[in-house]
Amino acid sequence: MRHVYDVIIVGAGPAGCAAARTLASAGFYVGLFDKAIFPRDKTCGDALIPDAHHALKKLGLMERVTKISCPAKGMRLIGFNGSSVLIRADSACVPRLKLDELLLESAMEAGSEFIPDHEFVGILDENEENYQVEFSRNGNYVFARAHWILLATGANVRSIQHAGLLLRAECRNFAARQYVRNERLARDLHELTFTFDPSVKGGYGWIFPGPDAIFNIGIGFFGSAHKYCNPRRSYERFIAKLPLAQDLMRDGKIISPLKGSPLRTGLSGTRFARGGLLGIGECIGATFPLTGEGIGKAMETGILAAEAIMAQYDLGRAAVAQAYTQSIKALQPKFEVYRKAEFLFNWPYLTNKLVGHTAKSEYTRGKVEGLFNETSDPGFLLTLSGWMRILFANR
Ligand SMILES: Cc1cc2nc3c(=O)[nH]c(=O)nc-3n(C[C@H](O)[C@H](O)[C@H](O)COP(=O)(O)OP(=O)(O)OC[C@H]3O[C@@H](n4cnc5c(N)ncnc54)[C@H](O)[C@@H]3O)c2cc1C
Repeated sequence: MRHVYDVIIVGAGPAGCAAARTLASAGFYVGLFDKAIFPRDKTCGDALIPDAHHALKKLGLMERVTKISCPAKGMRLIGFNGSSVLIRADSACVPRLKLDELLLESAMEAGSEFIPDHEFVGILDENEENYQVEFSRNGNYVFARAHWILLATGANVRSIQHAGLLLRAECRNFAARQYVRNERLARDLHELTFTFDPSVKGGYGWIFPGPDAIFNIGIGFFGSAHKYCNPRRSYERFIAKLPLAQDLMRDGKIISPLKGSPLRTGLSGTRFARGGLLGIGECIGATFPLTGEGIGKAMETGILAAEAIMAQYDLGRAAVAQAYTQSIKALQPKFEVYRKAEFLFNWPYLTNKLVGHTAKSEYTRGKVEGLFNETSDPGFLLTLSGWMRILFANR
């Protein structure tokens, strides 16, 4: 391990690896630290939606990821009255154990040095030239220096606080998932399935077909709904209620227990930058409210931070922090709409209507597909005129 780098990246998830690959390809000395030893699992639904496809293409990794993932025909939305619609959008499912290993390999191929089993403790010394960063390993303290630090530690509040980026500790969202193998269903189900049912109050349930006939099945709660209900009981109710979930469980083999984790969403609750320290990925809340998807935006924010350093390097830390903050602020309006649209989960009548009309109306389907593909403004979910068109559009 070197002790001085151009950039220290803490956290080797999608955000950290995307930044490391981009910076190391441009000739920066990158030290990529993680508290875990890889390959490591990460509790996740494993779904790659269009923004993840965009980021992977930008990183030149789409082909490699396609080889290890299970492509999906699209996303099926199911209302609690049984209405259903298939949304056309690039989508796939790949276990995080494999995806994150591939992303890490790609960062190392580009020239990043990976230092596992090092837990970020804090920043000891900050000056114009560099930061001194403290890690803990087997009870011992290890130090490294760099001119730039990218914090990519996910939803882990303690690290965000120790880096001086935390404004609000609360995580508004929570999700849990389980792996189940079912060879029979794997032959028939090729869609990412999202179900909106009151059994998951304040959220939704999913069934995603992954490689090797292993399904990722789970539930997500939004707008702090998890504080008022028991996730395990909701999960059991969701399975008991949804015919597809019963089918999956009936002759399926459980591969892993139900495991949950909080999500930091909404691009809120943290500063995005402080001097030469930039936050990327879920640690700055770059996971979507409403859907809980964050792999794509984690990689995107990692790339944005790397690009800000590369473009503004000669102008210094303040210019980089400003350029990066501006690029993140440009993403904020969409996150804000998604956050406000979480009210939908408390109005099953409206989600039924939305699913039903999306199935029937070209106009509404275009809007919903545009939402997932990031080609249309999601604001229609919040306006009365948007809902009038959804509810009364016939074609
Ligand atoms: C149940 C569930 C289902 C989800 N489903 C989906 C989905 O289907 N699709 C989707 O796009 N998103 C999904 N998400 C969100 C997605 O998991 C996150 O948005 C994504 O992992 C964020 O990536 P990241 O790189 O920012 O952080 P992470 O992937 O969390 O990576 C953070 C890394 O930092 C390391 N680390 C943490 N603390 C320290 C420390 N102190 N020192 C050193 N290293 C540290 C960790 O070991 C880890 O490797 C889901 C989340 C949950 C909880």
